[in-house]
Amino acid sequence: MTDFAADSILVHLDVLPSGELAKSAAGLLGAAASVGTPVALIVAGAERHDELAAAAGALGAQAVLVADLGGADTALTVPHVDALAAAADLVQPDAVLISNSIEGRDIAGRFAARTRRALSADAVGVARDDEGVLAQHSVYGGAYNVTSAPTFGAYVITVRQGAIDARAEAVASPAVTALQVTPSGAPAAVIESFEEAVNASTRPELRGAGKVVSGGRGLGSGEQFALVEQLADTLGAAIGASRAAVDAGYVPYSYQVGQTGVSVSPQLYVALGISGAIQHKAGMQTAKTIVAINKDADAPIFEIADFGVVGDLFQVVPQLIAALEANKAK
Ligand code: FAD
Repeated sequence: MTDFAADSILVHLDVLPSGELAKSAAGLLGAAASVGTPVALIVAGAERHDELAAAAGALGAQAVLVADLGGADTALTVPHVDALAAAADLVQPDAVLISNSIEGRDIAGRFAARTRRALSADAVGVARDDEGVLAQHSVYGGAYNVTSAPTFGAYVITVRQGAIDARAEAVASPAVTALQVTPSGAPAAVIESFEEAVNASTRPELRGAGKVVSGGRGLGSGEQFALVEQLADTLGAAIGASRAAVDAGYVPYSYQVGQTGVSVSPQLYVALGISGAIQHKAGMQTAKTIVAINKDADAPIFEIADFGVVGDLFQVVPQLIAALEANKAK
């Protein structure tokens, strides 16, 4: 049986419906490696275990626990919570890291409540001091960074997708342990039927995207929002929007970035015709590089922009697209 390091960090990895590890896995394992020894937990059909364990090793997992979903793959969340509880008993980790995805948040909340551990949601970083693992947050619309710690026990931390750049060194053959999980029988929502929605778009998903181009009220109409799409496609970016653009019906609510929308932490965030209200900043201020194009030199978005262009976006963006295309053609 595998011995687990005293500074183990248990990392629950999301598995996509396609059977692969979610993109968040790299950042979670990188974060774990920065504060301890990463031990991955993968809950999936047994036929995928070998491949997923190897993928987790390649992203830095020193050890991998695999739990079989078995016949429970129609039950949401609870099989993952059961597996996490068994894994935490076995590993006795210093902290538990989970993606701040929709499913991850559900799993983390239930796991923390069931095992009486403290929960920190939507962390943008982790650290360690003499007493244990700490979580770092961006709060009040990104105006302050704060650090939190539990008063006892291993912290359960959900990590904002894309927020942590740290990457762990690949482990060629991580120790793999098949986890014995006793189903708790806790009530679970069950999938009774599903319909596959085919996403015809080749654009990346907003949540977790490496690059995001967002448009605001300055676009003026749904038709003119096409300019945001053109720039996004030139950059290979996902599309976002301000609430004003969503409320005006330019794009669906699923595009909304901000306090009451999606929080993103891409490498590059381009804001077109967005003033930079605090509620918008709350969802994008942790982006690594922020570019803003706005005709108002006093727009608050420029306070946080790394690069800013004061000008009419309908003149600036076509020139930007042409320059990027010309650069690609070189
Ligand atoms: P505006 O503030 O109207 O700004 C439009 C900008 O476009 C201006 O700066 C203008 O100079 C510029 N512009 C206009 N024409 C051009 C042009 N041709 N070229 C270049 N620039 C141009 N907002 C969010 O985004 N996300 C949220 O999640 C969110 N949650 C909220 C929750 C609460 C409880 C509340 C009260 C508000 C929330 N808001 C949210 C709304 C937020 O306060 C702002 O109203 C909103 O973000 C403004 O969107 P905007 O920047 O697109 O529009």
